[in-house]
Amino acid sequence: MSAAIIDGKAFAAGLRARVADAVPAFAAAAGRAPGLAVVLVGEDPASQVYVRAKGRAVEAAGMASFAHTLPAETAQVDLLALVRDLNADERVDGILVQLPLPAQIDEAAVIEAIDPAKDVDGFTRDNAGRLAVGAPGLIPCTPLGCLMLLRDRLGDLSGLEAVVVGRSNIVGKPMAQLLLRDHCTVTIAHSRTRDLAEVVRRADIVVAAVGRPAMIRGDWLKPGATVIDVGINRVDGALVGDVDFASASQVAGAITPVPGGVGPMTIAVLLRNTLVAAHGRAGLAPPEGL
Ligand code: NAP
Repeated sequence: MSAAIIDGKAFAAGLRARVADAVPAFAAAAGRAPGLAVVLVGEDPASQVYVRAKGRAVEAAGMASFAHTLPAETAQVDLLALVRDLNADERVDGILVQLPLPAQIDEAAVIEAIDPAKDVDGFTRDNAGRLAVGAPGLIPCTPLGCLMLLRDRLGDLSGLEAVVVGRSNIVGKPMAQLLLRDHCTVTIAHSRTRDLAEVVRRADIVVAAVGRPAMIRGDWLKPGATVIDVGINRVDGALVGDVDFASASQVAGAITPVPGGVGPMTIAVLLRNTLVAAHGRAGLAPPEGL
C-alpha cells in the first residue's frame, strides 16, 4: 500500500474537542447550553443506532439533548406539529429529523417545516440555496466533514480537478458546491455518466457517494489522487465503502478508510453546526477555528 490513510476518526475527535471547549463561553453569554433535538420516527435499527450515537455525542460536548421517539405509524400532521413546537422552543438550537421516514410521511414537507436557522442538517431549500449562491448558512454535515478532511490533507484546493460520484441532495450536490466554493474544477458523475472510469481518472480529488460496495477501483484513479469514500455498505456483516480500498490504496496518494474515515466526521460536524446555529440564534459571532 502506498497511500496515506486519512484518519477521519482522529480529525473528528479533535473537532469534537474544539466544539466542547467552546460550549462554556456560549453558555456564559447566552445563559444556557446549546441544544439539539433529534426526532426518530419508527424502529429502523440503523437509525436507532445513529440517533443514540448523536445523543451521546451531544451530551459529551456539554450540550443539551432532546430526544423525541415517535411510533412508526405517526401521521404527518403530528410530526409537523412536533417540528413546529421545536421551532418555537427557545432551548432548541438544532433540529434533526432522522431519515428515512416511514412511507406515509412526505420527507420534503417535514424538512421544509424546520426553521432554517435550526436546520443543522442543512437540508432545507433555504440552506441549500444559500450554499448555491455563496451566502452564509448551515451546510450538510457529511460533505462539510469531507471538505474539512480535504483541506487538512491538501491545504489550498484551488484549481484541482474534483470528481464527485453521486448527485444526492444530502451528499453529492452539496459536496460539489463546497468544492466549487474552494475553487476546484468540479464534475458531478452519476448513474447515467458515460465511461465513469475515464471521468474519475482525471481527478485530483475523488469523492465517492454512490452506495455501491467497492465500485471504484484502483485502475480508475490518477496516481496520487486524494480519495474520500463516503459510502457505507454492509456486506456479509462488515462495513465496506464505495471504493475498493485494496486496489485504490495502491494508486491513491491518500484515502479515507471505511470505517474510520468520513463516518465519524458526520457527527462531529453535527455538533459544530449545532454550536454555530446556537451562536447565530443568540446574535453571537461563531467561534473561530470550527
Ligand atoms: P443516494 O441518494 O442513493 O445517491 C446515490 C448516487 O449515486 C445517485 O446520484 C446515483 O445516481 C449514483 N449512482 C448510483 N449507481 C451509480 C453507478 N453505477 N455509477 C455512478 N453513479 C451511480 O445515496 P446518498 O444518500 O448520497 O449516499 C451515498 C452513500 O454514502 C451511501 O453508501 C450512504 O450510506 C453513504 N452515506 C454515508 C454518510 C456518512 O456519514 N459517512 C452519510 C450519508 C450517506 P442517480 O442520481 O443517477 O440515480
